[in-house]
Amino acid sequence: MKAINPATDELIKEYTEHTVEQVNEIIGLTDAEQKKWRTTGFAHRRELMYKAAGVLHKNIDKYARLITIEMGKVINESKAEIEKCAWVCEYYADNAEKFLADEMVETDAGKSFVAFEPIGVVLAVMPWNFPFWQVFRFAAPALMAGNGGVLKHASNVPGCALAIEEVFHKAGFPKNIFRTMLISSKLVGGVIENPLVRAVTLTGSEPAGMSVASIAGRELKKTVLELGGSDPFIVLEDADLPACVATSATARMINAGQSCIAAKRFIVVESQLAEFEKQQTAIMKSLKIGDPLDESSKVGAMARMDLLEELDEQVQKSIEMGAKLLCGGKKADRPGTFYEPTVLTNVKKGMPAYEQETFGPVSAIIPVKDAEEAITVANDSVFGLGGSLWSKDLKKAEALARRIETGAVFINGMTKSDPRLPFGGVKKSGYGRELSHYGIKEFVNIKSIWIA
Ligand code: NAP
Repeated sequence: MKAINPATDELIKEYTEHTVEQVNEIIGLTDAEQKKWRTTGFAHRRELMYKAAGVLHKNIDKYARLITIEMGKVINESKAEIEKCAWVCEYYADNAEKFLADEMVETDAGKSFVAFEPIGVVLAVMPWNFPFWQVFRFAAPALMAGNGGVLKHASNVPGCALAIEEVFHKAGFPKNIFRTMLISSKLVGGVIENPLVRAVTLTGSEPAGMSVASIAGRELKKTVLELGGSDPFIVLEDADLPACVATSATARMINAGQSCIAAKRFIVVESQLAEFEKQQTAIMKSLKIGDPLDESSKVGAMARMDLLEELDEQVQKSIEMGAKLLCGGKKADRPGTFYEPTVLTNVKKGMPAYEQETFGPVSAIIPVKDAEEAITVANDSVFGLGGSLWSKDLKKAEALARRIETGAVFINGMTKSDPRLPFGGVKKSGYGRELSHYGIKEFVNIKSIWIA
């Protein structure tokens, strides 16, 4: 397994993959540890989870650099990612006990209540785009709930995968309660089939989700799937345009456009179209592409060349089909996998930029005549992850937000994950929820206890 810096094409380090025997040994050790861990109290787990947040804060420069060199995002975003991981650790340290407290229920019994018990070892299959955050938002609630975790991370971020294991070890967690397995996706089926693995969470693409869910289905194991998105960003006639345009660029360009909840389809009413196109293009053109380790760079590298090529194909095909290119539309003229911030307008049904997820710095503007058509277009997607809607009429905006088929809608703001709010999708964006009290309850045995 090779870690290659996408900004320079240099080999960072080669890692030896775990064998099937080693993987089974790791799962056995994690299972044995979890049986002890589940008997520990919340106070103990809370103390360790706070220490994990401390380890993240203390090593922020080291871990942020690792993220940046392995997957190419700009260093300031990597630092923000580490801070957010510390936040989610603290959030579940503070709230897990409350979220999982027994729920008394009045029945005909002398006493009846619902208890939330750990289920055992959970497999996490994770992507490279937020290589720390995606893992921590699973691991913090899972460990606080008394579960164990085994991680199969994306093959291009093995250093991050091992560093996450290190965070928990440095914090004083038992060595085997959270383990990283360096394996290719071919071995994932065998891990799911291992009887000691009780459930699976996957964040990644639709094909990966389908494969993992079908194996887990055959094994009757629960899954949570956080998959792709093609989030609508709706601009209505009464939107505050300057604020909306500035946010539109941020919402599209975070992580060089490689975010599941990045705004991808900009659905703009005709009265705002010309100004929106002009102002968004101006911002996109002004963003400095550069060395991701340089704090002044605004656009880093894409994570891999095959992903850049796939994105470019979607752009070229959309142009062939009639989309108008306002800026960018090609690989940047420098070594590494940098793609120019791109704006396409006149995007229509049938074009890749309309139908598919564009996982990179490409904005697709879809003109519509009014709010009704905007909602129809927003829902005309196989995905349903997040969405953003801009209008000064908050009552109308709220009513429209309820009609958007996604797991979240942000009004006059960009879609973002927040430990306090549930996160997840509908349709082909997956199912189940992470974060908030909903997330921690995905992997527990919700158990009724009835006493005569
Ligand atoms: P990916 O190719 O699906 O990889 C995600 C993870 O799944 C990696 O660990 C990968 O391992 C593994 N994997 C791939 N194919 C598999 C299979 N057939 N069986 C088992 N495991 C498999 O996705 P990606 O390119 O890393 O990430 C981009 C996608 O993730 C986008 O669609 C994005 O929207 C989505 N995403 C969703 C969320 C969310 O919360 N909804 C968040 C972030 C990203 P290898 O690396 O070894 O192939």
